[in-house]
Amino acid sequence: MSDAPSPVSITFADLGLPESLLKALSDVGYESPSPIQAATIPALLQGRDLLGQAQTGTGKTAAFALPILAKLQPLARAPQALVLAPTRELAIQVAEAFQKYAHHLPGFHVAPIYGGSGYGAQLSALRRGVHVVIGTPGRIIDHIDKGTLDLSQLRHLVLDEADEMLRMGFIDDVEKILQKTPATRQIALFSATMPESIRRIAHTYLKDPAEVKIAALTQTAQNITQRYWLVSGLHKLDALTRILETEKFDAMIVFARTKVSTEELAEKLEARGFRAAAINGDMQQAAREKNDPETEGRRYRHSCRHRCCRAWA
Ligand code: AMP
Repeated sequence: MSDAPSPVSITFADLGLPESLLKALSDVGYESPSPIQAATIPALLQGRDLLGQAQTGTGKTAAFALPILAKLQPLARAPQALVLAPTRELAIQVAEAFQKYAHHLPGFHVAPIYGGSGYGAQLSALRRGVHVVIGTPGRIIDHIDKGTLDLSQLRHLVLDEADEMLRMGFIDDVEKILQKTPATRQIALFSATMPESIRRIAHTYLKDPAEVKIAALTQTAQNITQRYWLVSGLHKLDALTRILETEKFDAMIVFARTKVSTEELAEKLEARGFRAAAINGDMQQAAREKNDPETEGRRYRHSCRHRCCRAWA
């Protein structure tokens, strides 16, 4: 496996992307490819399978989305690409990214397909015809079993955050889906870590993959100041209360380790006079996405990719 080359002087045009995508990239303000994009896009455009070790934040979504869009057959109605993601939030984000990069591809359709929400909209999207499906494994299996998702024309399969799918217990579903796709499809597997089960899947299903490894990100956004306060468990609520009372803020996101503790914390904060609500993976999607009436339509979307939870005061 080789580390990705430095993309210093490489441009998106050098990578062989078509004009419609270059225009969309310029619209969104991307000036040059990130290292994973520089290493991955040419290999995927050549039709190779790919094994990518990279975290979120490296630009891996565009790294797989752009080559798929570059090779899209606009007139075909059955899905040509399937991206499997561990959570509905990631599925939605990836679908939004595809939509953004496909801005100059008229008639392009992508559908996020995830559990915890009704089948109606998903079925009508699939019936209308979509080029790309982004889905969580369980719901994708449901649609395959019901005969509502036709994978017979699939040309690209992406496993995004494969180690998260493993951690969340989806790996058997992922493998089942892999087996339901045509043998000719191109596979790109991305994972932040490469545990043995992921290596086995890569070894079993990927054909002579290009391998790309991007060093873990350690940087923090320039406009974020990090501070910490060491407190013992018993004093955490008091410490948080003190922060809420002394810091100026419009809204705050608090991460908690378990679903139950988001609710306990939100209740305790309410009892102390702060307006707080819990959000976690047990809640219905509609409740997680709902507008907070007092924040005037500021739509809050849970975008956490892990089993952490949030409350905002
Ligand atoms: P990802 O790792 O795919 O979640 O991407 C992380 C963030 O980087 C997203 O907000 C992307 O919009 C952004 N991004 C991806 N590629 C580039 C690029 N070449 N230049 C600037 N921003 C990018």
